[in-house]
Amino acid sequence: HLRHLGWSSDTLAWHRSYPIAQGNRQSPIDIVSARAVYDPNLKPLVFSYESCASLNISNNGHSVMVEFEDTDDKTAISGGPLENPFRLKQFHFHWGTNRSQGSEHTIDGKPFPCELHLVHWNARKYATFGEAAAAPDGLAVVAVFLEVRIAKIACLYDESIFFFQGTKAQFSSFNPKCLLPLSLDYWTYLGSLTTPPLNESVTWIVLKEPISISEKQLEKFRMLLFTSEEDQRIQMVNNFRPPQPLKGRVVRASFKA
Ligand SMILES: [Zn+2]
Repeated sequence: HLRHLGWSSDTLAWHRSYPIAQGNRQSPIDIVSARAVYDPNLKPLVFSYESCASLNISNNGHSVMVEFEDTDDKTAISGGPLENPFRLKQFHFHWGTNRSQGSEHTIDGKPFPCELHLVHWNARKYATFGEAAAAPDGLAVVAVFLEVRIAKIACLYDESIFFFQGTKAQFSSFNPKCLLPLSLDYWTYLGSLTTPPLNESVTWIVLKEPISISEKQLEKFRMLLFTSEEDQRIQMVNNFRPPQPLKGRVVRASFKA
């Protein structure tokens, strides 16, 4: 169980319990756009989210998360840097106390107020999500930046029942396709989970174009709590890990700068 001294001091202590925190392919990273290498062999991304079945929404203690039925390849991502379809398992968000911070990845040193992670797994190669999460080619996470605009995105939830850690509610027929920007241009690199156990199992696909969120919706995220009902209340904010060293990795771009 994580003690919350504040997420930023937690992230600095993770290496004591998870030595991989100082590994060679950790995430997130700062993407220096001028150093990204255009790769004409990268294919366009294909999101097959048509018959998407969301199951529930919950406060899992480090984010708000929506889980999906993942028993077949109906809801999957393919193309891009991926050899075969990867199934959608869940999505969740990272955000800050104010607009000046919140995302995990940064672009040319600049953070966004919020970042969405759509987590997919390689069901062609691995039997379970857990098995995939431990393998170097097991997961594909699509990152979408959110910027604050007056025009709001699809409202995710209005309830206050997700305040406490561990609370969960049924949440069906939500299609995350409405959380994708118009342009599917992306950067891609090999990295890791950004929360413990920090497995180096993720092919990251970071979309260039941000989507919009209203300040009001961001405020709803900030009202969530890291803590459970019986604990002292700690507001869930700044649930992002800072950028990690690149250690010689190359970031590829699907588009010409
Ligand atoms: Zn995440």
